[in-house]
Amino acid sequence: MAGPHDTSENAAVASSPRRTPRPDKTHIGTHALKPSTLMMGHGYDPDLSEGALKPPIFLTSTFTFPSAADGKRHFEGITGKRPGGAAGLVYSRFNGPNQEILEDRLSLWDGAEDALTFSSGMTAICILMMAFVSQGDVIVHSGPLYAASEGFVAKVLSKFGVTYVDFPAGASRAEMDAVLERAKDQAARQGGKVAMIYLESPANPTNALVDIEAMQAARDSVLSPDCPIAIDNTFLGPLWQRPLQHGADIVVYSLTKYVGGHSDLVAGSIAGAKRWMDPVRALRNTMGGIVDPNTAWMLLRSLETVELRMQRAGENAAKICAFLKDHPKVERLGYLGQISDPRQQDIYNRHCNGAGSTFSLFIEGGEAEAFRFLDNLVIAKLAVSLGGTETLASLPAAMTHLSVPDERKAALGITDNLVRISIGIEDADDLIADFDQALAKV
Ligand SMILES: *Cc1c(COP(=O)(O)O)cnc(C)c1O
Repeated sequence: MAGPHDTSENAAVASSPRRTPRPDKTHIGTHALKPSTLMMGHGYDPDLSEGALKPPIFLTSTFTFPSAADGKRHFEGITGKRPGGAAGLVYSRFNGPNQEILEDRLSLWDGAEDALTFSSGMTAICILMMAFVSQGDVIVHSGPLYAASEGFVAKVLSKFGVTYVDFPAGASRAEMDAVLERAKDQAARQGGKVAMIYLESPANPTNALVDIEAMQAARDSVLSPDCPIAIDNTFLGPLWQRPLQHGADIVVYSLTKYVGGHSDLVAGSIAGAKRWMDPVRALRNTMGGIVDPNTAWMLLRSLETVELRMQRAGENAAKICAFLKDHPKVERLGYLGQISDPRQQDIYNRHCNGAGSTFSLFIEGGEAEAFRFLDNLVIAKLAVSLGGTETLASLPAAMTHLSVPDERKAALGITDNLVRISIGIEDADDLIADFDQALAKV
């Protein structure tokens, strides 16, 4: 990102009087610093803010130009007359210092060239899709998706002549080839193109993983690299899965979950090569939907501990699932640390660095037994969402997926005894004691 807080060479070259060239602080000599280190200061220069160690929250709607020529140059960047976006800050619908620092730091986790932030995960997803589709186009997506994402494709984009083809998350390379061929034919009939391949992995609440490498190979053979592969990495990112290394072009987050991590904000982001970010930035500039400065500041706070929190939550989940595995009141678990299908295990081994802390617990019985378990939990709170410091539990069939038709629920394995659990950073033994006493009441 180019702005007063940018540390990249480009911004230093295109400097205005207020922007001073700064050394590249992402390395010590040839030693590359890790994201966990860079979260404390990357992209922020205290000298530009009275020496404040932490960035102030910049509550301003607009930014003054040092000169009229600078103003013209900035607008050439904003309007696309000059490539590479604005060289400085212009107006807060386009960007601001807190958002730019946040975007710089988010790109580090996925090794992305650029990132964009939004007022929610859904804003990110909707603007991303709208930036790439035209009338007659087809979106190919894995299923199931987060319900609102699926609804946006099926109910909103369809109003503008965009259709979709979906495939089950666990599909093989041959099935992916077939689905892309089908989408290509469908696009040709509609006078459009396959505009995007949109994945979500692991799928919620089944935890089925998508083989990103296989999809990249299928895309390159059936379509072309001009059709971007985007992936919603909310459940495992940024720590446990880095999809850009496995063939995805664009990574998508609900920052509301693990990245925000304290269940106290709503935000979203995308990251990838500038080639993919630029059209999305242009549409965001037009529509709005950028995250606000206060939320961006809270996310900078969150990013300082994201690795610690996710590590602890992942360790907790592993201990708790080891306890639940053979419990007589537990029918089975849908946990990435205990996969039974060899193909899913193979995808896990290639794509994942950890099993996460969100899993499905199938209680012996049906809805009544699941309700009894949920109503007797003491530490774990009864709420939807995930990735926070606190442990949450919910019943998808009766809550997030209540409106899904029964046949589709059955096909997706969303049964009445499936309890969805997101483990937090409490003490693992305390959580085990809580689950143990709640299971005893079933
Ligand atoms: C929560 C969530 C979203 C939507 O994000 P919001 O920040 O609530 O808009 C999208 N995808 C996944 C996988 C999610 O869990």
